[in-house]
Amino acid sequence: MRITVCVRQGLDGEINPFDAAAYEVALRIPDAEVTLLSMGPLGARELLLRLTRLGARRAVLLSDAVFAGADTLATAYTLSVALKKIPTDLLLCGRQTLVGDTGQTGPMLSVLAGLSPVTEVMEILSCTSEAVCCRTRTEQARSAPLPALLTVERVANLRLPSIRSRVGEVEVWTAADIGADPARCGLAGSPTRVVETKENQGGRRRCRFIPLTALPEAIAEGLARRQQPLSELLPADSTLRVLAVGEAPLPYARSVSADARVLPLSCEETLAEEIQGADVDAVLFGSDPQSKLLAARVAARLGLGLCADCTALAAEDGELLMIRPALAGSLMAKIKSRTRPALATVRTAGEREGALLVTAGLGARQALDTVRALAERFSGTLAATRRMVDEGVLPYELQVGLTGRTVAPAVYLAVGVSGAVHHIVGMQRSGTVIAVNPDPKAPIFNYADVGVVATAEELSALLP
Ligand SMILES: Cc1cc2nc3c(=O)[nH]c(=O)nc-3n(C[C@H](O)[C@H](O)[C@H](O)COP(=O)(O)OP(=O)(O)OC[C@H]3O[C@@H](n4cnc5c(N)ncnc54)[C@H](O)[C@@H]3O)c2cc1C
Repeated sequence: MRITVCVRQGLDGEINPFDAAAYEVALRIPDAEVTLLSMGPLGARELLLRLTRLGARRAVLLSDAVFAGADTLATAYTLSVALKKIPTDLLLCGRQTLVGDTGQTGPMLSVLAGLSPVTEVMEILSCTSEAVCCRTRTEQARSAPLPALLTVERVANLRLPSIRSRVGEVEVWTAADIGADPARCGLAGSPTRVVETKENQGGRRRCRFIPLTALPEAIAEGLARRQQPLSELLPADSTLRVLAVGEAPLPYARSVSADARVLPLSCEETLAEEIQGADVDAVLFGSDPQSKLLAARVAARLGLGLCADCTALAAEDGELLMIRPALAGSLMAKIKSRTRPALATVRTAGEREGALLVTAGLGARQALDTVRALAERFSGTLAATRRMVDEGVLPYELQVGLTGRTVAPAVYLAVGVSGAVHHIVGMQRSGTVIAVNPDPKAPIFNYADVGVVATAEELSALLP
C-alpha cells in the first residue's frame, strides 16, 4: 500500500501533533510504503530527516520562495501538483495544524488531487486495496474507495526511533521541479489575506465568587437563563448580499446583510453550481464537520478563498471582514478574500453538547467519580482538558479546546481546570461559565461568570 503522509513543521520546530498522529497511524498499516510530503522552508529538512528514522522509505520537502505565505488553497494546490509525482493509494494528514488550525487543507487537497475524503478520523477499522473504512468523531464506520484522503485526529503519539534505525533521504523539490504555476502558489496564489491582528481578549468575564453551598443554585440559574440568540449578539450592519448554507450560520449572515438568504444544505456539486450562479458577496457555512468539509471542497472546486471558524463578521468598503482566533487562540485576526464571493465557516457549535457540560481538569483527577456524579445529578455531560487526556484518565473524544472540540453549552462547569488559552478557545462561547478551583488566582476565573474556591473533593458535599 503506497501511503503518503503530509506533515508540517510547527513553530516549535517539531512536527504538528495532528500530523504526528497521522504518521503513526500510517506506520501501523501492514505493508505500508510510507512517503512523507511537506511544504516549508529549507530548515524543515532536518525534521524530515529525523522522521525518516521511524519508518518512512522516502521524504519530499517542497521548498521555494514562491511557496511562502500560502493560505490553505495555495497550499493544497502546491501539494496536489507534487502528488502527481508520488503515486499514492492513501493520503493521511492531521486534522489541522496549530498555526492555522483551519482543518481546510486536507479536504481542499482531496478535491485538487481527486481523492475520496474522510475527515476527523479516530481509527482505521479496515484497509484493502479497494477501500478504507474508518471510525470518525461522528460516525462509527465511514468507508471511502481508494485512492482516499484521511484527516486524522490527535489519536496517537509518534513512536520513538529504534537504536538500529537509519536516517533516510530527503529530496527537496522546487516549483519548477513539480511544474507548479507560481501564480497559484504562496502569497500570489492565496485569495485570503490577513489584514490585521491583535491580542485575543475574547472570553474574558467578570467573576462573582460564591460559597460552595450556592453552586447548585448558580447552575440552575445558568440553565434557566435564556441564551441570547446569536442574532442579538451580533449587531446588523450592512447591505452585503450573503447566503447562509443551512440555518445555523443565518444569524451571522444577518449581522452583515439586511436580506440574508438560506441555501439548503445539499451535495457539493449542487452547492458549487448554485454559488457560482448566485451574484452574492459572501457565502457562510456552519462549523459542524459536514459543513466544514463541504465548505472546503466547494472552495477548492471554485478556486475561492475560505476563512475558517469565524467568531464575528463585519462589512468594510462593501467587502466582508472575517474575524477569527489565530495562533493557538492567542491572537484575533481580521481576514479579507480577494475572490468573490468570500467563503467562510462560522462558529455554530453547541448543538451537540446540550445544556450543561462538566469539564474535569487535572485538579479533579482524584475526585473524578464525584465530578461524574455531579454531572449526572444536573443531567450534564462530562468533558475533559488535554492534560486529563494526555494522562490517559479520559478519552480524546471528551477533550475541549484548540486540539479538541469547540463547545457552547448553556452552562460550562470547569472543575480543576487552570484556564490555559488552548482550553479557553474551545469553550469561550458558552452561556454561563462556572469554575471550581482551590487556587483563587487560577486564570480560569478570568473567563468565568461564577467562581467557587474549593477542591473537587469538596463537591461531594453537594451529592445525596
Ligand atoms: C499546541 C497545544 C494545544 C493544546 N490544546 C489543548 C486543548 O485542546 N485542550 C486543553 O484543555 N488543553 C490544551 N493544551 C494544553 C493546555 O495548554 C494546558 O496544559 C491544559 O489545558 C491544562 O489542563 P488542566 O487545566 O487540566 O491542568 P493544569 O494546568 O495542571 O491545572 C490543574 C488545576 O487544578 C487545580 N487543582 C489542583 N488541585 C485541585 C483539587 N483538588 N480540586 C480542584 N482543582 C484542583 C489547580 O489549581 C490548577 O488550576 C494544549 C497545549 C498546546 C501547547
